[in-house]
Amino acid sequence: MAVCIKSLIQNMNVVIGCTIGCSYCYARNNVRRFHMIADFERPEYFPSKLRRMANKRPCNFFLTGMSDFADWKPAWRAEIFDQIARNPQHRYLFLTKRPEQIHFSTSLMNVWFGVTVTSRKEKDRIAALRENIHGGHCYVTFEPMFDDIGQVELAGIEWIVIGTETGYRKGKSVSKPEWVWNLTEQAHALGIPVFMKEDLLAIMGEPQMIQELPPAFCRVLEEQSTWQKREKTTF
Ligand code: SF4
Repeated sequence: MAVCIKSLIQNMNVVIGCTIGCSYCYARNNVRRFHMIADFERPEYFPSKLRRMANKRPCNFFLTGMSDFADWKPAWRAEIFDQIARNPQHRYLFLTKRPEQIHFSTSLMNVWFGVTVTSRKEKDRIAALRENIHGGHCYVTFEPMFDDIGQVELAGIEWIVIGTETGYRKGKSVSKPEWVWNLTEQAHALGIPVFMKEDLLAIMGEPQMIQELPPAFCRVLEEQSTWQKREKTTF
């Protein structure tokens, strides 16, 4: 049975809003529908959400479900990374489509910086991520996919995520199995874990689904389950 990535990695939308303007953005629709902020193109910071980090039960947190790391103001980053340093029990994931605009370094090792590549012409973003962000770990998300990405340079990358466009957008792009296999085989040749998102189930078929996590995320989930068992026996 395919696992939903949200059951493994929880969203913490500490910044809401994004200037990138992707036509397929589901976050923009949700933000407008639920009136979360006045203007999606003007990102806003919600520091009160950082309180979730104080929970001692370990968690894998995704912090850019409704924003792009490139849009984060330096003052926001400073405050957020200060909280991360105080809460090393968790793993923290970030994603960007504009790695060339970021110049950031950290000594923290429980942070994962990802770049989104949706087509062959965006492959340079992977090199830009490695050049402009120093520290932590790197991963790549291929979602949605508009063509066969072809050969990719994955040295230094520790995880890849592959998906397809969801929703009902006119002109929606559906990933092809051969595109998914191409990336999977390249990653596996380098020993890089591959996670096919649950939406690929109908495209790949259950026996072909691969849902691997980096060992660091698995450790967090194991610790989480130990905490849950302990909490159940306590109450
Ligand atoms: S980068 Fe993400 S949040 Fe920003 S517009 Fe594109 S899909 Fe939406």
